[in-house]
Amino acid sequence: MSNAGEHKGNLPRLSTVYLLLAAVMATVFLVVAFTASHLTNTAVKENVRSATLSERTRAAITDIRSALRVVDNTLNSTLLVPQPEHEVTIHRQLTLIEERIQLIMDDPAIRHLGLEAQLDTLEKSIGVLVFHLNDLIQKREDPAWVYPLLTYLTDHLLAPHVAFETAADQALREIAARDGRPYASELYGAFDEVRDLWRRMVLNFRAGMIRFAGLDERGLDAQDSNVDVLLPLIEARLDRLEERKQAGELGFEAEAALHEMQQAAIEWKGHWRTIGGLHATAVWRADLEYMTDHILPAQERVFSSLGALESTLHDWSSSNTAALQDVAHRTTYQLWGLALLGLGFMAVTFVVMRRSVLEPLRQIAESLARHDDRRLPENTLARSQEVQQLVKAFNDLQQQVQVRTRALEHQALHDALTGLPNRVLLNDRLEQAISHMRRTGGSMAVLLLDLDRFKEVNDALGHPVGDRLLQEVALRLQGSLRSTDTVARLGGDEFAILARDTDELGAREFAAKIRQAISGVFVIDHQNVYVGTSIGIALYPDHGEDASTLMRRADIAMYVAKEQSDGLALYHPDSDDHTADRLALVGDLHAELRDPRHLYLHYQPMIRLPQGSPAGVEALLRWHHPTHGPVAPDHLIRMAEHTGLIGPLTYWVLENAISEFIRIDEAHRHTHLSVNLSAWNLQDPNLPQAVSSALEKTGFPPERLTLEITESAMMSDPVNARQILELLSVMGVRLAVDDFGTGFSSLGYLKLLPVNVLKIDRSFVMDMLESENDAIIVRSTIDLAHNLGFRVVAEGVENGEVLALLGALGCDFAQGYYISRPGNIDAVSQWLDRYLEDDWRDRLVVPGLRVLGST
Ligand code: C2E
Ligand code: CA
Ligand code: CA
Repeated sequence: MSNAGEHKGNLPRLSTVYLLLAAVMATVFLVVAFTASHLTNTAVKENVRSATLSERTRAAITDIRSALRVVDNTLNSTLLVPQPEHEVTIHRQLTLIEERIQLIMDDPAIRHLGLEAQLDTLEKSIGVLVFHLNDLIQKREDPAWVYPLLTYLTDHLLAPHVAFETAADQALREIAARDGRPYASELYGAFDEVRDLWRRMVLNFRAGMIRFAGLDERGLDAQDSNVDVLLPLIEARLDRLEERKQAGELGFEAEAALHEMQQAAIEWKGHWRTIGGLHATAVWRADLEYMTDHILPAQERVFSSLGALESTLHDWSSSNTAALQDVAHRTTYQLWGLALLGLGFMAVTFVVMRRSVLEPLRQIAESLARHDDRRLPENTLARSQEVQQLVKAFNDLQQQVQVRTRALEHQALHDALTGLPNRVLLNDRLEQAISHMRRTGGSMAVLLLDLDRFKEVNDALGHPVGDRLLQEVALRLQGSLRSTDTVARLGGDEFAILARDTDELGAREFAAKIRQAISGVFVIDHQNVYVGTSIGIALYPDHGEDASTLMRRADIAMYVAKEQSDGLALYHPDSDDHTADRLALVGDLHAELRDPRHLYLHYQPMIRLPQGSPAGVEALLRWHHPTHGPVAPDHLIRMAEHTGLIGPLTYWVLENAISEFIRIDEAHRHTHLSVNLSAWNLQDPNLPQAVSSALEKTGFPPERLTLEITESAMMSDPVNARQILELLSVMGVRLAVDDFGTGFSSLGYLKLLPVNVLKIDRSFVMDMLESENDAIIVRSTIDLAHNLGFRVVAEGVENGEVLALLGALGCDFAQGYYISRPGNIDAVSQWLDRYLEDDWRDRLVVPGLRVLGST
């Protein structure tokens, strides 16, 4: 114990260790979680900001791009077919672009990112683009600027054309004037043809020029080929006209005209060729050149600025994403770290648990499973206070279990109240003994005991007293045993004793010894309690050779014993039937008391001595059993005492005796009524109450009621008896000591009780003529009683001599067959009536009295 106490201080409490570890773990977890959540939050916030900004800026950039595209498309359209709404569209888009630029510039995040320089470049490039666009739109209003070729045409091709036409007209006019019939003139036709070809050629060229205004270069080629075809034709015709000039067929004026025409054609052709060359260099369309030279590069710059801005934004959001990824990675590592830490914690906890909890638990469990009684080693098993407590508790429990198991084993075989072996153990021992006797050929006895009047003790004094009494009885029984004997309690107030190596004589002596031991007073809670016992004996092998037969026969013998005055009986085969009858009789008495049809009273008179006048009558109980006939009153009373019916039976007698006696009382007011009480009535605290209510109910005067109580009853429980007797005496009831002389009471002691009358037992009276001894007893009793103030009744007076002697000895009252046998109430009434007749009185007058008195 002290060892464990020392230990306790050094051992760690598991819960403390666990709490410490858990606290450390929790701190680490919290710190990591806080850091991770802070980092993640920052990264996510930054990312969201960058995402929002990128998105906004990119949307703006997309808008700018698409606006630029619209501008470009519209510009292209207007270059082909200029329309006023084109300009509107372009301006609207440019405004939109400016707005978007402003939007981007105004975003505080842009400044935060340090994108001002890039935005500056973008703004500038857009400014340049806008400037050029506006410039172009403005310039385009001047077709001459757009088409520089047109000026050339007017400046160089118009003059030769006009010259050719004029000359041709002049020639034709001259020919017509000369000829008179111009249309019939072959020359006229020739000039006309040339002029016609020329006109077709110029028309063709003009149509081509108109188409040049477009961008269809193939159209230009087609027109060119027409001029290519027509011009040699014209030259051929002019050459033929030259030949005719040489031939002198032409007039002067025609010759001059021809010359003019030739010169004009040559000049026109030269310029036409120049135009072809110009066309090849594309100088002819200035707006396109402007586009190429200014607009497109400006656009290019804008797009590249936008691209640069976008890529910066992209880089920025990538870097944000990277940061987020970084955070995510770091968080992942932290999670892994935590997981490992957790695993480590679990591993450590497991190791600690296994060492300090699981292992000890396993050993405890094994110990439990083994059902062994060994104590667990506290010092080696306990590595923590908790387990130490458990081990200690287990050891305590095991000890308790052992104790209880032993107690249960004991309980199973022993009686709880007395601690004596019970029926089971007795049976076991009996069988062992029988088999031993069989081998050795010895004999033994089974004694069955039943306490007399135990039920009354229980009812009157309460169960606790009853229980104590049984314990005391058990002690006394054990005290009377030899070491080889076994005493067992079979239940209730029944005990059995197994006496080895005992024959009939030994068994009887043993039983007598036990009866004597039990009959002595038991002092329980300062009360004296008396019980008797009836003992039935069955012998092995005479009465049975097996345990159950022996027990059954001892039982039968015990019932017989209850009816014997010495309370002892050896089994006899005849009593088998008798027992059955007796058992039936008990049941019948129960029924009878519920509805008393065969119970009745007889009365026996007593006379006063010496004059012989009636002094009273004694009520005597009778039971005429319907099948068994009259049952002896002694037997009946003993049976009632043993079965607890004595109380109700006494009350019945009391009430019936008084009420019957009152009927005949009118004529005999001077006589007493005596009623017998059993010893057990004196242990009944309700008795005084029952007596007084019987008296009250009938109005019978208490001083005319005498209650007869046997000497042994008075002595069996003097304290209780005395209390009850005092109560009865106070009520005015007279008390008589019945059967005086059979007990061992001293007259001195009786004097202390409120007793008025002594009734000398009939055994002394009946034999007093023959037995000197009895006569001395009767005589001295009368003298002593008188000295102590008692009146004396002699019962059992069977003849006149005894009556005379009693009268001579100064006995106060006499009762006996000689005076009157007991009879029913009518008979006793008649007897009383007859006393009034003289002859009858004479017979009762004590004959020898005068003789004795005279001597
Ligand atoms: P007990 O109280 O001593 O009653 C007197 C007994 O002696 C009666 O026997 C009576 O018939 C008998 N007797 C009377 N005169 C003579 C005689 O001259 N010679 C002989 N040989 N006997 C005589 P009984 O009626 O058989 O009663 C026997 C006992 O039964 C009574 O003895 C009494 O102890 C008991 N008893 C009877 N009635 C009652 C009762 O109501 N209550 C109680 N507690 N006991 C009763
Ligand atoms: Ca009596
Ligand atoms: Ca008597």
